[in-house]
Amino acid sequence: MALRDIESLGDLTGRKVLVRSDFNVPLKDGKITDDGRIRAALPTLKALVDAKAKVVVMAHLGRPKGQINPEFSLAPVATRLGELLGKDVVLAKDTVGEDAKKQAASLADGQVLLLENVRFDGRENSKDDAEREALAKEYAQLAEFFVSDGFGVVHRKQASVYDIAKLLPSAAGFLVVKEIESLRRATDNPERPYGVILGGSKVSDKLGVIENLLEKADFLAIGGGMAYTFLAAKGYEVGNSLLETEQIETVKGYMEKAEERGVDLLLPVDTVVAPEFSAGSPATLVDCDQMPTGQMGLDIGPKTAELLGAKIKAAKTVAWNGPMGVFEFAAFSEGTKAVAQALADSECFSVIGGGDSAAAVRTLGFDENKFSHISTGGGASLELLEGKTLPGIAVLED
Ligand code: ADP
Ligand code: MG
Repeated sequence: MALRDIESLGDLTGRKVLVRSDFNVPLKDGKITDDGRIRAALPTLKALVDAKAKVVVMAHLGRPKGQINPEFSLAPVATRLGELLGKDVVLAKDTVGEDAKKQAASLADGQVLLLENVRFDGRENSKDDAEREALAKEYAQLAEFFVSDGFGVVHRKQASVYDIAKLLPSAAGFLVVKEIESLRRATDNPERPYGVILGGSKVSDKLGVIENLLEKADFLAIGGGMAYTFLAAKGYEVGNSLLETEQIETVKGYMEKAEERGVDLLLPVDTVVAPEFSAGSPATLVDCDQMPTGQMGLDIGPKTAELLGAKIKAAKTVAWNGPMGVFEFAAFSEGTKAVAQALADSECFSVIGGGDSAAAVRTLGFDENKFSHISTGGGASLELLEGKTLPGIAVLED
């Protein structure tokens, strides 16, 4: 199915366009500590400004839980967005109130207005369809077209994401188009060999991803905390490592399925263990069939990293979700670094999904341009890897 794009909306000169962006940035003492999401929204907003549209942007910040709370005001975002666009961004005093209406009505061509936090209104993410629809109708009165570009929220059935798209002629913005095209290319009919690398903390968070991609992948590599449940399923001692005993039977099922389907299921062969979950805990390298009791596995070892590196080198498509170890602690970040390096060096189509995985690649100092795509949406990218239909995407498809 094809996503409707901005071009499909026709000439937007002088027309009012409502845009949903994802500006849910981290703040510390009222200052934005990472403006990546604002930057990711720029291609769409710049294109609309250049097309001389009147641009009304909606976004959320944090969890104000339906209450007006200055702590969650989009004011810092309006300032930063203005700097990045090189033009003033007006911040409405409310979301769909009098000021929002007044400001939207008096916009000049090519001007940008940001509405206050959509989550100041409890109807935004209400479970009640009628409540959300009522709010969406108020949004719709502010503009003539809707552009959905907040990839981080497209898996949510919310008024500013889903309901509004049914009320106005609507299209996907550049960020959403790029995210969807990249994630689909890395999950549906991928160029082969096709590899999937999964890590992170819990198997139970990734069951849907494993089930979907085990049907498609040529190899499936497991690292991170979830690997120890697989190793335990093989009968290995895993000491105090992360272990989900209630998933052992499920994981055994995955191992059988991989065998039946001829999927190369790669588990770690060596691991870095330490007595405690802390940055300075003394690290020892052991083979996975020799894990001592009383210690926990906090990273994959170099032999495993080398095996993964060789697989990545031979692959044409790789989807990666979940760090290989506790990358937040330097002593346990080598496995994640090695996988990121192998992907950066490879010519394959590489997609990194998952909030912590994307953060890992950035904080470990990799050049983002070395990867084909780093997703901006944690939950949304996971649901795409699970093969789910996302409500905020389905409404933009013909
Ligand atoms: P993503 O957000 O990319 O989907 P997750 O949220 O599933 O990833 O997992 C990320 C977290 O997993 C990181 O905070 C990392 O420290 C943790 N992690 C990775 N390996 C281990 C391990 N061996 N033991 C405990 N935690 C781990
Ligand atoms: Mg996470």
